[in-house]
Amino acid sequence: MQILESYLEGAWRAGDGDGAHLYDPTTEQPVARASTAGLDLGAALAHAREVGGPALRALTFAERGDLLARMSKAIHAEREALIEIGRVNAGNTRGDAKFDIDGATGTLMFYAGLGKQLGDRRVLRDGELAQLTRNNRLVGQHIRVARPGVAVLINAFNFPAWGLAEKMAQALLAGMPVLGKPATATAWMTEAMVRAVVAADILPAGALSLLTGSAGDLLDHLTWGDVVAFTGGAETGATIRKHPAILANGVTVNVEADSLNATILLPGADEATYDAFLRAAHTEITQKSGQKCTATRRILVPAEMVEDVIEDLGAMLARTKIGDPADADVRMGPLASAAQLASAREGLAALQAHADVVWGDPEGGAAVNDGVGHFMTPVLLRAKAPLEPGPIHDREVFGPVSTLLPYADLDEAIAATRLGQGSLVTSVFGDDRDALRALIEQLAGWHGRLVITDAKIAEKALSPGLVMPHLQHGGPGRAGGGAELAGEAGLALYTQRCAIQGNAGLLDHILA
Ligand code: NAP
Repeated sequence: MQILESYLEGAWRAGDGDGAHLYDPTTEQPVARASTAGLDLGAALAHAREVGGPALRALTFAERGDLLARMSKAIHAEREALIEIGRVNAGNTRGDAKFDIDGATGTLMFYAGLGKQLGDRRVLRDGELAQLTRNNRLVGQHIRVARPGVAVLINAFNFPAWGLAEKMAQALLAGMPVLGKPATATAWMTEAMVRAVVAADILPAGALSLLTGSAGDLLDHLTWGDVVAFTGGAETGATIRKHPAILANGVTVNVEADSLNATILLPGADEATYDAFLRAAHTEITQKSGQKCTATRRILVPAEMVEDVIEDLGAMLARTKIGDPADADVRMGPLASAAQLASAREGLAALQAHADVVWGDPEGGAAVNDGVGHFMTPVLLRAKAPLEPGPIHDREVFGPVSTLLPYADLDEAIAATRLGQGSLVTSVFGDDRDALRALIEQLAGWHGRLVITDAKIAEKALSPGLVMPHLQHGGPGRAGGGAELAGEAGLALYTQRCAIQGNAGLLDHILA
């Protein structure tokens, strides 16, 4: 069995005892274990702050960008090994694992490019120079520099590669050392990814640390200047926000939590638009077996089109082969763990009190692999009362489950979507420009991202669950209120804004 280690104070370290076991969700056999017991996390954070911080802050953005490019290449070189770990430890199909790993290397490369663009400087200008009085020499300029602490990057189980990479790309480029803390259940891929970076000897000492396994007393050692970037369930997010050391020391926290993402099909959509809607809905239900924070949970369809959608989407789901991800024909593997399957089944039962199953078998997973493995087959539900608040709008079933919500008019579609109380992403498929404008105006305040697909881009449209580094990832309300990525804006979390007041000529000279 693989024994996973943490990388702290520049050395690989195993915790005491057995720790937690990690399993192959297809066979239910243990494949690895990870313990953090007895590790000195206070010392690890201090090392990152005191050794890694100054070393990174001494580099320019271009130099930090260069580090990210080399990290991306080192991880890409291990792609096949990482894909195999994704299969063994998370039940990923090859496609699912590539989505995670290529997302990681792609995001690192994107921020490498931004570093090159920001160039030979350590200080970012933030906005325009402001003249403060009638005397044009008296000016002010906001700047941004790296926060002086360590960025603690806590991630969910579903993206063990991309989850850490997207956060560390932004933090390292900003000039902050990072300590990654992947979810224990699927931490093997993160450990292997960090091993690839460490072995390539790219980063200055203290710039990158990894805690593989339980968080232990990690948060107790946080202090001002540190940042916690958390992705996971809303409850864990709330626990972290309320942690005494975080509250007492003014630690900056960003929370990316769960979200009841929606898709809206507009009446009168062009055929190409309708096909793109079906493709996206199918991808969002089946990719990573529905275990994506951006997956579509609610499908809003004009009432008169519901039967067609059930038939067409059902036909696509019926053609999707589910089973052992080692089989090249399989398009959907098991859920990542026994706990995830139990939670998804419980959530589905809660939804069934408010919705009818219109496609699939809620018990269907049991037979997939002769009763072995944490399988769940796709289920489509139809809400009994789409405009009624409740589980359909606030219970995230983290699996291949989505609920159809028939609507009579645009006002109903807007009202139902808003019941998600703040989401990461909603997608709209339609060709009625007035309706699209109304939806943007009336839904943007409830969302981190809106994806509009009309006939002109239908064939090339990206699935709404795909997070691009150019654009914001995060959403208001129940989605956690966080914001990541969005290109240069992603550096804000890891930088301190400081207003510099002084002589115009001097500031121009210093900040050039
Ligand atoms: P989770 O149970 O909330 O765990 C998330 C992370 O928090 C894990 O690394 C976990 O470590 C750690 N953690 C738990 N308790 C902690 C504590 N007291 N102090 C510090 N860290 C702690 O979530 P999950 O089951 O891994 O992921 C599923 C959820 O994540 C879903 O709800 C999904 O929507 C959400 N998610 C959101 C996004 C987004 O960007 N908005 C992206 C992906 C997933 P252990 O594993 O060691 O317990």
